[in-house]
Amino acid sequence: MPRILNDALEAVGNTPLIRLDRIAKHHGLKCNLLGKVEYMSSGGSVKDRIAKAMVEAAEKDGKLIPGKSVVIEPTSGNTGIGLAMACAIKGYSVIITLPNKMSLEKEAALRALGAEVIRTPTEAAWDAPESHIGVARKLQREIPYGIILDQYGNVNNPLAHELTTGPEIIEAVVSTPSTSERPSTEKVDVLVSSAGTGGTVTGLSRAIKKKHNKACVVVGVDPEGSILAVPESLNSKRQGEAYFVEGIGYDFIPEVLSRDPADIDAWVKTDDTEAFAAVQTIMRKEGLLVGGSSGSALSGALKWLNDTAEGRAIAQREDANVVIVFADGIRNYIGKDWFLNNSLKGEPSALAGVIAKV
Ligand code: PMP
Repeated sequence: MPRILNDALEAVGNTPLIRLDRIAKHHGLKCNLLGKVEYMSSGGSVKDRIAKAMVEAAEKDGKLIPGKSVVIEPTSGNTGIGLAMACAIKGYSVIITLPNKMSLEKEAALRALGAEVIRTPTEAAWDAPESHIGVARKLQREIPYGIILDQYGNVNNPLAHELTTGPEIIEAVVSTPSTSERPSTEKVDVLVSSAGTGGTVTGLSRAIKKKHNKACVVVGVDPEGSILAVPESLNSKRQGEAYFVEGIGYDFIPEVLSRDPADIDAWVKTDDTEAFAAVQTIMRKEGLLVGGSSGSALSGALKWLNDTAEGRAIAQREDANVVIVFADGIRNYIGKDWFLNNSLKGEPSALAGVIAKV
């Protein structure tokens, strides 16, 4: 890669794969636990990749006109930030429709990048006219040169992960040789990703299973309250319940999410309490400033490794590589109660007694 980049879009992706040795040890896991740390992408999340891919594909098809086009997108925020970044650079206007539950930090980042933000009721069903999807469609009908790139149905969403995130993970694992101290199959044996549109988990599965390791176990993580998990019985317990983790889970099945069990081998449900506790663990044990859905992904990975026979066998293999996608960073949630309550009012530091005496 050249040292001087032309713009922020060239700093999308190429994120590190980082060992989570302290978490693995803490949970008695012998396998290599590895985090794909997506907040290190220039816009701060895994969704930068699809924003860049969708904008570039639309430009290639002649669908975007600089100075005229208005890119409209319903999003939980991160796709919007990626789009606003791309459009700031390329000269398109942006309107983002964002459910109320999504953080003020995301709205601030969007506005800082020049986007308009319209808030929509979180509880609106996806196909209601007042939902983030419904409002985006209405805007598109009424705004000249309005275009929805549509992350829920755009093939460039899973494709961006098949062509970039997946190959990066595979390359990192394959090029790190097995040693007696750190045995490795030199393959991705398990891939764990939380799902929103499902583009990440679907695209990664395709990259890994088609070109690298057909036997890789791909695990999707879906929050309690959502209906993405298969089989559907997994969703029934708390379906429709509200939850605070952002960016994952839906009340409909996005077109880009593969429902084929050959692509996604297993699904795990997680809840807010588990996810937010796991965020704290990732920060305190590994020093990584991840966001809420990264906690869901870690907590889902640990459940699969502990609660299934296949998972338990892999967890005890010293050479197995288990990759977990950490989709965004804490920048998006720094003022949220769930984070502040943990970080400011969490366990007292071991140094508290000494500090009080100074
Ligand atoms: N985590 C966060 C924080 C997200 O914003 C998203 C995207 N909505 C995801 C996970 C899930 O990614 P995908 O849409 O590719 O399933």
